[in-house]
Amino acid sequence: FKSDTSPMRCEEEEEADLLEEEKPDVARPVQIVVADEEEHSFLLREEALERLLLKEEVQDLNVVVVSVAGAFRKGKSFLLDFMLRYMYTQSESWVGTEEEPLTGFSWRGGCERETTGILAWSEVFVVKKPDGCKVAVLLIDTQGAFDSQSTIKDCATLFALSTMTSSVMVYNLSQNVQEDDLQHLQLFTEYGRLAMEEVYEKPFQSLMFLIRDWSYPYEHPYGLEGGRSFLEKRLQVKQNQHEELQNVRKHIHSCFSNIGCFLLPHPGLKVATNPHFDGRLRDIDDEFKKELVNLVPTLLSPENLVEKEIGGVKITCRDLLQYFKAYMKIYQG
Ligand code: GDP
Ligand code: MG
Repeated sequence: FKSDTSPMRCEEEEEADLLEEEKPDVARPVQIVVADEEEHSFLLREEALERLLLKEEVQDLNVVVVSVAGAFRKGKSFLLDFMLRYMYTQSESWVGTEEEPLTGFSWRGGCERETTGILAWSEVFVVKKPDGCKVAVLLIDTQGAFDSQSTIKDCATLFALSTMTSSVMVYNLSQNVQEDDLQHLQLFTEYGRLAMEEVYEKPFQSLMFLIRDWSYPYEHPYGLEGGRSFLEKRLQVKQNQHEELQNVRKHIHSCFSNIGCFLLPHPGLKVATNPHFDGRLRDIDDEFKKELVNLVPTLLSPENLVEKEIGGVKITCRDLLQYFKAYMKIYQG
């Protein structure tokens, strides 16, 4: 692992910095962790992260970190763009109008490339919770592929870093929860747990399985309640189960204080297959929209925001920066 940004700055990074300097006021996704696929290493872009977390208005506020994590091309950006709409609008009409194209994480062409790494939205939102306390909300996109021995190991580290630094981890999966998905989750939470200094009962906070294109609503209905019954069944430890399957399940339960699941319907053929689709609501199935307007506030409404805690203590944006650096160092070995 390399976290030193000074000696070797890749062109891409310099290009990104230039863009940031040119347009300092335009909110956009910022790559904060970059993967070097050949070296099997990761690089923390400390300056970029500092620019977000040390802004006057947020640095001393307790931080809420919501990370959407998963493989490429599974609708993470699409969801994050709706999360941004919610954060920017904060009113009943947040979901937008029929003809409005989606913008945000899919904003710049470069970010749509299949790069392994962690992106953050450059604007850290300040939200007043119902108790009057202000918190800072950071939205994160974590992506990588678990498709070969080497990428599995690399991505486990990346996802571990994301799990350790987020208060809500949205694990974005397509169609179902496969045994593989659970094994990968076990692997990266294990990596995360090893990297944390002290042994806490439950090292991580909230985990939300988000199942896209759910197609068994007659067995488990769409939404949070269907997700709960589905997950209960899927994560059940049974006597006659193979020991390995039992262990994966016990491990996952032991790592998170809170585990939920949300079942989302297929958004319709225009979203899935039309290359000219630009995110406008008119082209999205009603059933999907109906669930989307429940999902986003479940994650982001002021009363549902989960502040990031480490060792049972809430941390500020400034602290989060230090944790990022410290965790990165551990992985450098
Ligand atoms: P990301 O790589 O995970 O960020 O995925 P994107 O958000 O860029 O979406 C990849 C493609 O999947 C785009 O063509 C989207 O229109 C489409 N898409 C978005 N959400 C969904 C979904 O829930 N189901 C399906 N089948 N496609 C989706
Ligand atoms: Mg994306």
